[in-house]
Amino acid sequence: MRGKPIFENLKKEALVCARCGYCRVDCPVYEGLGWESASPRAKMEITRKLAFHGKLTEKDIARLFQCTLCGQCRETCSARIDTVSVWLEMRRRIAAGEKGPENMRRLAAAIDETGNTAGDAPENRRLWLEAMDDEAVLKRVGQKAELLYFTGCSGALYPQIYGIPQAFTRILTRSGADFTVLGENESCCGFPLAAAGEPERIRKQAEHNVAAAKELGVRTVVTTCPSCFHAWRDFYPEILGGETPFEVLHASQWLAREIAADRLRLGPVEERVTYHDPCDLGRNSGVFEEPRYVLNQIPGLELVEMECSGSDAACCGGGGNLEAVDPALTEVIAEARLREAEATAAKTVVSGCQQCKRTLQGNARRKKIRLRFADITELVDRSMAAYEANQ
Ligand code: SF4
Ligand code: SF4
Repeated sequence: MRGKPIFENLKKEALVCARCGYCRVDCPVYEGLGWESASPRAKMEITRKLAFHGKLTEKDIARLFQCTLCGQCRETCSARIDTVSVWLEMRRRIAAGEKGPENMRRLAAAIDETGNTAGDAPENRRLWLEAMDDEAVLKRVGQKAELLYFTGCSGALYPQIYGIPQAFTRILTRSGADFTVLGENESCCGFPLAAAGEPERIRKQAEHNVAAAKELGVRTVVTTCPSCFHAWRDFYPEILGGETPFEVLHASQWLAREIAADRLRLGPVEERVTYHDPCDLGRNSGVFEEPRYVLNQIPGLELVEMECSGSDAACCGGGGNLEAVDPALTEVIAEARLREAEATAAKTVVSGCQQCKRTLQGNARRKKIRLRFADITELVDRSMAAYEANQ
């Protein structure tokens, strides 16, 4: 597993670090700020300080939270240190001493109290479904079914993201899948709690969601959010002390499987697109091929790669709750990725993550960069609609 929520081995990792600096190559924070003190090597020095002397300054703490948890430094580390696990554990120890950023504490408290990142009433998780104006879909909430579409807080509660769960729900319906959604009974996957340094609180979320899925007889859990996917697949078994009885898939994997089995009818989408690998789906979960397979199956679609793609893909700047502590740095990182996308002459940037889409889209608007943005589910939905229109 990549990125353990609780990782006791700080001393060993701090000693293993050779201070070589290879981890700085492609670190978006180091590239964005250009200071050694912002580099992963400097974060390892701070780790050493905490592990052996137990004390950090406010500046040290701020530096540790200036990180998108993108995993690039883990790829380039010459000593093969699981850096993301180290950064998560450092956040945990800081939060345990109540020294973490105030808005991270607020986020963790909101999840604990309301079961979502927005601090909304749980019944608001039905709004995206109600907005579809489709009684048959609404009836699926809380029904027994083989497949659970786990929407996640962003998809369920932020109107600018509704398009993604709505597109995926239309695909599921057209495919004839036996699926359900939890609606107001869904709770945050808990992933943002790890980034906020409070992984112990994930247990409550995991227990609730796993029990809800079991009660509906679910066998496969599918998410459109890579962080939910990573939490269900990798964090839950670790936190709950054993495998969960579900197959866990990201939507791109489910789509790839359905397309390969010839169960989805795809029509033409004449567009040049580039694919942005979300860090939590790609480097942090190892899913690179399925999204590309799906895109390559859409008739008329031309997929072009950015200079950095796959395991080298640059971060969008939206990970690790960075935007909550340093929005200006998120902007710098997002712009660098947008310039790469622009260089491909693609019309649309496709991703498999609502957070990547939101971050890139928002920053493109601010910088007046003329690109379109789509989630992979939205593109497949368009392709299926094009097929139907041609019948
Ligand atoms: S996880 Fe990403 S942003 Fe954080 S230190 Fe490593 S490369 Fe830099
Ligand atoms: S690449 Fe690895 S060993 Fe070298 S400085 Fe970075 S964390 Fe330490």
